[in-house]
Amino acid sequence: MSKEYDPRMHTAEHTLSGVLIRRYGCPRCFSTHINANKSKVDFHFPHDLSPEEVKSITEEVNAVLARDLPVVARDMDRNKAAKRFNLSRLPESAGDTLRIVYIGDPDSSEGSLDACPCIGEHVAHTAECGTFIWVSHEWKSDDGGVLRIRFKLDR
Ligand SMILES: [Zn+2]
Repeated sequence: MSKEYDPRMHTAEHTLSGVLIRRYGCPRCFSTHINANKSKVDFHFPHDLSPEEVKSITEEVNAVLARDLPVVARDMDRNKAAKRFNLSRLPESAGDTLRIVYIGDPDSSEGSLDACPCIGEHVAHTAECGTFIWVSHEWKSDDGGVLRIRFKLDR
């Protein structure tokens, strides 16, 4: 884990991914560059985003962060996880039991916003991330569409 690695940025990335997946049904980001100052994430995504969509996504991410949801980790058998998650980015060395990280308690009545296998470090509650700021994005039509989002946190 590099010293640039930032659990708050990383947890904000889970939250952003969760919001985009829930809204658009897109796959989880396929590439991330998490840095303490500014981060970027790449999604396979079929169209560019309008200014209204950017504003609305930003508001929803911040609403989730402000709710101070717990970030919960649970172990799951790898075979069971393979049915629910794309494990192609996970190293084989991750073992037979995977750690699934949830934004929001999966056992609560509304369930979790986001779930994915992850070995990274996270904050305990989403409000620790501070405020999510959408810095910029670009969309390219290659590969069926790739959306790159740059963001930072104000805290
Ligand atoms: Zn993570």
